[in-house]
Amino acid sequence: MSDFEIAEKARSFSCSPYSHYTVGAALRTKSGKVYMGCNIENHGIQGLCAERTAFAKALSEGERDFESITVLGAPVGEKAIDECTPCGYCRQFMSEFVDKDFKVYTRQGDEVREYTINDLLPHSFIF
Ligand SMILES: [Zn+2]
Repeated sequence: MSDFEIAEKARSFSCSPYSHYTVGAALRTKSGKVYMGCNIENHGIQGLCAERTAFAKALSEGERDFESITVLGAPVGEKAIDECTPCGYCRQFMSEFVDKDFKVYTRQGDEVREYTINDLLPHSFIF
């Protein structure tokens, strides 16, 4: 199963009753394990994006070495055709847990797009 297929499976678990926009992520570790994440929305507080869900799962199980994350998103019931890139919050969040060679994969139609975290968050704040 490709990471895009895993992200699509994660997307099927999306909890998005407010935005009706479903997102799935497949976070791959350097050891080859893959953590799925979907967006989780609720009424009371800010929800979780798929990317941070996947990172929270992995980090809370002790993972620290990440290779890539693959992200897909689309309105509920629609195929994920248009590119869905991580939001600003997720870009900052991920940047604090990954190396410079970490890759973010998306796709536009059948075209796979590959980014580094620096592509997505240039000149980021560093402690
Ligand atoms: Zn996000």
